[in-house]
Amino acid sequence: MNSADEKRKLFAALAAEAAACRRCESMCGRTAVLSERNGSVAARVMFIGEAPGRQGGDRTRVPFSGDQSGHNFGRYIASINLARADIFITNSVLCNPRKESGANRKPSVEESLNCASFLQRQIELVAPRVVVTLGAVALAALKRIEYHQFSLKDSAGRVGEWNGRLLVPLYHPSPQVLASHRREDAQLRDYAAVARAIRQSAETAHAGGGRVRDLPGELSGKT
Ligand code: SF4
Repeated sequence: MNSADEKRKLFAALAAEAAACRRCESMCGRTAVLSERNGSVAARVMFIGEAPGRQGGDRTRVPFSGDQSGHNFGRYIASINLARADIFITNSVLCNPRKESGANRKPSVEESLNCASFLQRQIELVAPRVVVTLGAVALAALKRIEYHQFSLKDSAGRVGEWNGRLLVPLYHPSPQVLASHRREDAQLRDYAAVARAIRQSAETAHAGGGRVRDLPGELSGKT
């Protein structure tokens, strides 16, 4: 494992590379949202969303801040006593995808593929014990790095194992998703699974396991 200083240096180089990236033609006017403002590179928990929002991360340069999704996200992590300083937050694509009208849109598969190596390098550098995906796009992005069979519908709010880490797939905290797919009480229950995963990973580390293995109750609903 890198020393803290070396890790910060490598992260700064990665952020500079992302800032200069113009791989996605339709996002050339935007700059990647990746800096020390994404959180601690020593974080044990990494949250991965879909893409920076026009009024959110693209404007504030902090993922999940400044818009309603960010407000909801802040409320949910507070419900399990997690502070922003404890976590690292990023997105499956680092730039803000927009429609011609200027409204947010989902990143295309091509854009997700373009940005997959940045996501993979962030995960390898931060090396979180727990990865939390926010929405189906983020969960699919992980599949491009290391194959998995999790679906949001079947696995949301459960603790699984992915790529030697604990994985908790969650629904996106946007107002649209809250209104149509996962209401407030269900979202709060899902975040309790994140707290369980953090405890579980701490126990594994305490027992001397560097990587997570033999996960009891994996995706069994007993999490
Ligand atoms: S989304 Fe990712 S791959 Fe595409 S231009 Fe931005 S940093 Fe580059």
